[in-house]
Amino acid sequence: MSLPASVDVVIIGAGAAGLSAARALSGQPLTVAVLEARDRIGGRAWTLPFRGEGLDMGCGWLHSADENPLVPMVGTAGLSLDRTPPPWQSQIFNHEITDAEIADFRAAYDAFDERIAEAAAAGREGPASALLEPGNRWNGRMDAISGALNGARFAEVSILDYDAYRDTGVNYRVREGYGRLIETLGRPIPVVTDCPVRKIDRTGPVLRLETDRGVIETRTVIVTVPTDLIARETLKFDPPLPALIEAATYVPLGLASKMHMTVTGAEDFPENSQLWGRNDTGDTGGYHLRPFGRPMIEGYYGADLARGLEAEGPAGFFDFAVEELVHLLGSNMRRRLEPVAATMWGADPWAHGAYSHAMPGHAGDRLQLKAPVENRIFLAGEATAEAFYGTTHGAWLEGARAARQAMTALGLDPRPLPGDEEA
Ligand SMILES: Cc1cc2nc3c(=O)[nH]c(=O)nc-3n(C[C@H](O)[C@H](O)[C@H](O)COP(=O)(O)OP(=O)(O)OC[C@H]3O[C@@H](n4cnc5c(N)ncnc54)[C@H](O)[C@@H]3O)c2cc1C
Repeated sequence: MSLPASVDVVIIGAGAAGLSAARALSGQPLTVAVLEARDRIGGRAWTLPFRGEGLDMGCGWLHSADENPLVPMVGTAGLSLDRTPPPWQSQIFNHEITDAEIADFRAAYDAFDERIAEAAAAGREGPASALLEPGNRWNGRMDAISGALNGARFAEVSILDYDAYRDTGVNYRVREGYGRLIETLGRPIPVVTDCPVRKIDRTGPVLRLETDRGVIETRTVIVTVPTDLIARETLKFDPPLPALIEAATYVPLGLASKMHMTVTGAEDFPENSQLWGRNDTGDTGGYHLRPFGRPMIEGYYGADLARGLEAEGPAGFFDFAVEELVHLLGSNMRRRLEPVAATMWGADPWAHGAYSHAMPGHAGDRLQLKAPVENRIFLAGEATAEAFYGTTHGAWLEGARAARQAMTALGLDPRPLPGDEEA
């Protein structure tokens, strides 16, 4: 698709937020262009085909599924919703841990969560790590969980932001892949791919966007790029927007990485079960055994551990996973595992990470990020979703919100929203 010369609305980025914004605008008397830097749509929602199935490289779980607006769209998109509960809180075979210790860990985590809620209610800000009990034996494991949840250690996570996250505890999956769902929903939308936007010139009465495929003019723009791209000024504003850049800097993307592996003799393990690598350190992975009953294991790693594993490359990354599984399940795992795909979101030039977390002292920066600029530049994405940040449904809801703001700015009544209810 070629780049139009001028439109009413440009949407930068064809991930969940951008595609949701485009769907919300479809059917309106407006000209819209969606510009995407990659050669594919979906962004951090991306399913890799493997042996007739789909492996999610980015998002995999429809979190807060009882409130998640994407859940009803799974069936209408012709895909299958899997309601098998996640195994995250269990440890099969009680490897390296007894039932009593699992209960002890849960109690320690619940107490930590309570301290977070109490501190937040009192308006106390700071690093979430300040509320870990000094010397508690489970602190390492809790920090490994922070790596998976936040892409960062608790020391880098704001108490108030962590507390603001809304988790209803209901989690579903799409059997064919969450990335496949977003791609299916986005398929009818015309997208200009291979089209990085480099600069938004806001000096004149119309916005002038410089891209690798030429210049486009627009009355309004919806920006859905990950925060690190704004903080690093890969996408520049002219004149610059220092408050926006600062907010993006303090709501950076943490890192979570996955290693998909096949395992022979998979019947030895219960379907959809879980193992945590080690109890005594944050530098450990979580292992989802036989997801969807497949003869596979999905390793999940967060924060600086994930950055180190990515830096080692797929072979070193796989070796780490094998050594952890050998430690837990015996040396025969060495010949039973084969690597399939390792994610590299930290090195990805259009993401630089997995999902956002607010740094201590910066919980309010998500609001700053979503503040409209001159009533013509609207930001949206997982990072602007105050309660559902870091998630695909949060990005989806935010895309629709920005579309409504753009419509209002262009003098249209933003209701009803076509495509909000159905695929
Ligand atoms: C490993 C991993 C696991 C995850 N697990 C889950 C999960 O289980 N559940 C969940 O809900 N979420 C999960 N997430 C998070 C979820 O994938 C993201 O929150 C969501 O996909 C973000 O959508 P977005 O539209 O905000 O951003 P993106 O998907 O990043 O979309 C932004 C788009 O903008 C494009 N872009 C960037 N710069 C430019 C530019 N200058 N010009 C043009 N285009 C540009 C990018 O290429 C991208 O396509 C996970 C993410 C990762 C990486």
